[in-house]
Amino acid sequence: MSLDATHDPKLKSWVTSANGHAEFPIQNLPLGVFSVKDGPKRGGVAIGDRILPLAEAVPHLKGAAKKAAKAGAGATLNALFAMGPGARQALRTGLSALLAKGSEARPDLVKLKDATLHMPASIGDYTDFFAGINHATNAGKQFRPDTPLLPNYKHVPVAYHGRASSIRPSGTPVLRPNGQRKPASEPEPSVGPSRNLDYEMEFGVWIGSGNAQGEPIAIADAANHIAGYCLLNDWSARDIQGWEAQPLGPFLAKNFCTSISPWVVTPEALAPFRAAQPPRPEGDPQPFPYLWDEADQAAGALDCELEVLLLTPAMKKAKEKPTRLSLANTTHLYWTFAQMVAHHTVGGCNLNPGDLFGSGTISSTTEDGFGALLEITQGGRKPITLPNGETRRFLEDGDEIIFRARCTREGAAPIGFGECRGVILPAR
Ligand code: CA
Repeated sequence: MSLDATHDPKLKSWVTSANGHAEFPIQNLPLGVFSVKDGPKRGGVAIGDRILPLAEAVPHLKGAAKKAAKAGAGATLNALFAMGPGARQALRTGLSALLAKGSEARPDLVKLKDATLHMPASIGDYTDFFAGINHATNAGKQFRPDTPLLPNYKHVPVAYHGRASSIRPSGTPVLRPNGQRKPASEPEPSVGPSRNLDYEMEFGVWIGSGNAQGEPIAIADAANHIAGYCLLNDWSARDIQGWEAQPLGPFLAKNFCTSISPWVVTPEALAPFRAAQPPRPEGDPQPFPYLWDEADQAAGALDCELEVLLLTPAMKKAKEKPTRLSLANTTHLYWTFAQMVAHHTVGGCNLNPGDLFGSGTISSTTEDGFGALLEITQGGRKPITLPNGETRRFLEDGDEIIFRARCTREGAAPIGFGECRGVILPAR
C-alpha cells in the first residue's frame, strides 16, 4: 500500500480544528454514520471536531469518488464497503482535496458534539479470533501452567462465531448479564448476575467486498477485502464462561453486548503505520501455504498503541480522570488480519460486506499491557488497587471502561480511532 499526497504530514485543512487534531486530522478521514436530533442516519467523514456528510460532498466530487460518496451517504456503509478498495481510495483522494486548505468549495459541516454516532454498517456476521498470543498464553496458564497454548494455536488462527445482534456503538451502556454460575467454591450451579464481569481489548476488522460461497479468498488478495478497522470491547462474564464453555466455546458469557468505536479507520489512513509481522519464534511451525504471503509478512501488521482506562463512580464523583489499566500494541498479534481472512474462507465460508472480526484480546508481554482483568488480577485472585485506594477483581456496577488507540510514526501525521466506551449498569 503506497503513500500519496493524502498522507503528507504538512497537508492542512480549511477546517481549522483538524490541523494538529490528535485523532482526526485531514490525513485520517475515518468513515461513520451519524444523525443530528431526530434527523435520519447519514454517512459522513470525521474531520477535526466536525463531520462532513458524504451527501454534502457528492456535488463536489467526480467519477469513482462521487459514486462512492453516494453509496456511503445513507444509513449504513455496507454498499460503500462492497465497492472494494478502488472506490474507497478514490473517495479518500476526493475528500482530501475537498477538505484541504486552498479548496474553494465549502460544503456544510456538522459539529461532532451535536451528532449521535451509530453503527457504521449492518453486521451480518461477527467472528472473534484469538490472535493475541500473550493473552492466549496468560489465559491458558490459569488452566494449564506448563502448556498454556494448546497444540493447534500456532497452526490455526483460532476463532468462534460470535453474536452480531448485540454489537453496539461506543457510549451504549452495558447491562450486567444474568446466567448460570458455578464457582469451584459452590457445590451446585446457581442463576444470577455475573460476579466476574470483564472487558477484552480487541481490534475490530470491517470486511469490505466479500466472496462467493465455495470460493476462498487467497492470502495475497485478503487485504483487498478489508474495509477498515475499529476498537472492539468483547465484554466477557468469566463465571458464566467457565461453567458453560464445557466443551463448546463462548455463548451467554459474551453474547449480551460487544462495543465498538463508531469510526471506520481505513487501510489507506493506516498505510503509514504498517509494520512487518514480528518474526515467528525459533521452532514455531511454518504456516501452511494458504496462510503465507511474503508481502503480508513484510507489511501486513499494524503499529497502533492501544490504551485501556477505567473510570469508577467514586472517581467520577471526585471529578478525577480515568486511570490507565494497560497500554499495548497491535504488533502483539500472532496472526495478521489477512491470515484471518484467508483462514475464515479456506473451507468455503462466504464473507459479506459489513461482516466484523475481532482480533482476540491484545496483551503485551508485561503486566502493564494486559488486555483483560482476567490477566491483570489472575482470574480475580489478585485484586488491583486504583490510585484512589479502591480495589477491583472484576468490574462493578457504574464502572466505565474506555479504549483509545493512537498511531504515531516519524514522518507521518499521528491519527486516532475515537473512543470505545461503555458503563456497566446493574443486572435486571
Ligand atoms: Ca474475545
